[in-house]
Order: sequence, then C-alpha cells, then structure tokens
Amino acid sequence: MSYLVFARKWRPQTFSEVIAQEHVTKTLRNAIEKERLGHAYLFTGPRGVGKTTTARILAKALNCINGPTPDPCMQCEACRRIAAGSHLDVLEIDGASNRGIDEIRDLREKARYAAAEGGYKIYIIDEVHMLTREAFNALLKILEEPPDKVIFIFATTEPRKVPATILSRCQRFDFRRIPSSVMAEYIREEAGKEKISIDSDALSLVCRASGGSMRDALSIMDQLVSFSGREIKGEAVSRLLGLVEADLLAEISSAVLHSRGSVALDLIQDALVRGYSTEELIAALVGFLRNLLLSAAGAEKGITDLSDSEIALLHQTVAGVSDVHVLNVLRLVAGASGQIRSGASPRISLEAALITASKLGIAFGIESLPPVTEKVAVAAVDSLKENSNSSSVTEVPDKRKSTDDDETPVEMPVVAEPSVNGKNDAVDDAPGDNEKERENSYVRKISGLFDMIPENR
Ligand SMILES: [Zn+2]
Repeated sequence: MSYLVFARKWRPQTFSEVIAQEHVTKTLRNAIEKERLGHAYLFTGPRGVGKTTTARILAKALNCINGPTPDPCMQCEACRRIAAGSHLDVLEIDGASNRGIDEIRDLREKARYAAAEGGYKIYIIDEVHMLTREAFNALLKILEEPPDKVIFIFATTEPRKVPATILSRCQRFDFRRIPSSVMAEYIREEAGKEKISIDSDALSLVCRASGGSMRDALSIMDQLVSFSGREIKGEAVSRLLGLVEADLLAEISSAVLHSRGSVALDLIQDALVRGYSTEELIAALVGFLRNLLLSAAGAEKGITDLSDSEIALLHQTVAGVSDVHVLNVLRLVAGASGQIRSGASPRISLEAALITASKLGIAFGIESLPPVTEKVAVAAVDSLKENSNSSSVTEVPDKRKSTDDDETPVEMPVVAEPSVNGKNDAVDDAPGDNEKERENSYVRKISGLFDMIPENR
C-alpha cells in the first residue's frame, strides 16, 4: 500500500470532522459566521487531541476563496496549500525550537507586511509556553497593537506557563481528551475504509493505551498494521505494547482465589519465561484484581474502558467468590509491590504473596464475612481520588512462616476486623447496629488499600 501514516492520512480537514471538540468548533464557526474574529487564540489541552489540526482548519476557513467561511471549500488554491503546509501566509512555528527573542522580533517585523496572497496572515505557534520571557515580551508588543488581518493561534499543553499578560489578550479554547468510546468508533470506521479489521478487545486496548490522545492511538495503529497486517486482534496489541494478557491474569487470579497456589506459581514461571518482568506482572495483576473487586462488589461503574469480553472475563473469574476474599488477595499482591519498592526481591515477594493469598480463604473462612456493598466500594474509589496522598499505606508484615499445613494460622492483617479479633463468633454477634460501623471500617480499610495500588496504566 502507498504508505502515509494514519495520523496524517486521517487528519480532519473541516470543523465537522474534528472529533470530541464540538465546544471549540461550534464557537469558532459562530465567530466566523458573525464576523467576530479575535486577533489571538489560545488552544490548550493534552497532546494529540486536535489543537494544531483545528488551527489549520481555522486558517483555511479564513483564507478560502469563499472566506471567511465556516465551511472552507477544500478545492481552491488556498485550501489546498494550507492543507499541504505550503501557504505563504500561514506560518507554523515550533515554539520549542524558536523560543528566543530574535525569532519573535523577526516575526514582529514580518507581521507588519500585508499577506502575500491578500487574505489573512496567520501565525500558528505550537508549544508557545516554551518561549523565553523576553520573547513573550516581544510577542506582547504585537498583541497590544495587532496589525490588521494578522491572526495568532497559540497552541500549548501547559497554559500555566504562558504569562498572564499574553493570556488576557487571547480567546482561550480548552481541548479535551478524547473519550474512549468516541475514539473507538472513529478508529473502527476509518480502519474499515482501509479494509483493516480490528476486534473489540484490540480496539479497547488501543484506546486505553492512547490516554485520550488520537495521535498516540493512530501511531499505535500504524505499528499494528506493520506488525500484524490488516487483521488486528487483542493478542497482537498486548504483545506489541507489552501488556499482560487478560486471560493470563484471569487464570492467575482464579488459581489464587480457589486456593491453588502452585498453579499460580507455574503460570508466573511461564510468563517470566515468555519475557514479562515480575514488576509488569504485579502491576497488571493489581489492576486486574481491582477490577475483580469492583465487579464482585457490584460497583462496575468504577470500571472504565473495558471491552464486553473483558467484562465477561471478570464475571467468569469472580463467580462464586466473595468480594472480601478478592479484597484480601488484592491487598496482599499490592503489598508485594510495596515490598519491592523498599528493596525486597521482586520474584520472592510476588510468590510469597500469591502463596499466602491462596491460603487465605482456608485459614480464615473469609468467604462467610459480610459483603462489601456497592455503596462502600464506590465510596472507596471516590475517597481514593480525594485522598491520593494519604499516608495510610499498610505494609504486609514480613514474618511469614513457611506454612505447608493449611491449618496453621498465619499472622496476617485481614481487612474485616470482627473475624480477626473474635474468630468465628464475632460475625454472628454483630446485629444491625454494627452494620454502619462495619461499613465505615471497610471504607477506611479499602481507602488505605487503594493508596497502595500503583497507577497501572
Ligand atoms: Zn477554499
């Protein structure tokens, strides 16, 4: 195939093609229709969400032979040359490599001359926050007395680094990350036009890995097509991005939850042979167990960006297992990652955590404990957001004896307090009044637990 990277090939050419930024494109269209154009625009937002693309579309809208028009014709000389990046009056400047005062003074001189082709003279300055203080001062002088028919469009990922004096002279537009569902639909559609098929697991992995940046998603697509041709499957994405496959995570979790520690260790051994690192496995396992916990607690609203088949896999793995049991296993595995950070051997920490976790159900009869309610699970996730700096990290103690005998009580911090203190009878004794207190205790415990979980993407 004649090769043009997707990010260029699929670049939106008109306002209506820009995805997920309607709040910006609608306002710009209105301004053009009502002839209320500013002299300077600031486009802010994460990388790869359409800032420069929208700047070029605005340039076309202004300089099209029919312009200013919200719907540039795409056929005229001006439209075609702006799309190709060769229009004399539409200048794209990279703020990172032209950050000094000399470049901006030069720009100021040239901005005084009328547009060579009669329309608007448009300066698109990318990464404008990189300019030096002196350069910003020089720029400010132009913005204070802008020449007629000169328009500046500044793009930045870091608006806080742009001086207030500049900000106050710009119309600001905040671009947003592209939601996974919108991105997935777009990629599926565009890929379809190229006769590329992509299954829903692959699509959800690509969207998740992109972090909401279309440019990143499309560059992953480029790699996938060179890697696996026109039929893209979830597995290929996992391999390309070095992700641990969900099936493997499900098998390990299931083995641990059903007290088959040796099976879990064999799976870990296989995964290490296949090239995963222990740290990758732990991070992926913690992420998977977190989703399992939310699923078990009936709080799936907290699970985002998973495909239907991944959700089905969660259901299948957690069937017949109590949420409290998942919670304790998660706690142990997350504890292993804490131990590694403080210098313990990764492999030993992981193996010890899995073995201990697989003995947990038997040792404490945990599955009989009251469930973590949806309310509690959601509160825990919320408090994680508010409280991400909390220091309530609970370390798993090291004094783990080798316990070949399932009956040997292991001294472990267990989440539900009643069972630890009073073994079995405490649970029966707890009437409705203690319900609230127990929930609160869960919230505290789960919050502490979530603090230990490293960001897994
Ligand atoms: Zn045109």
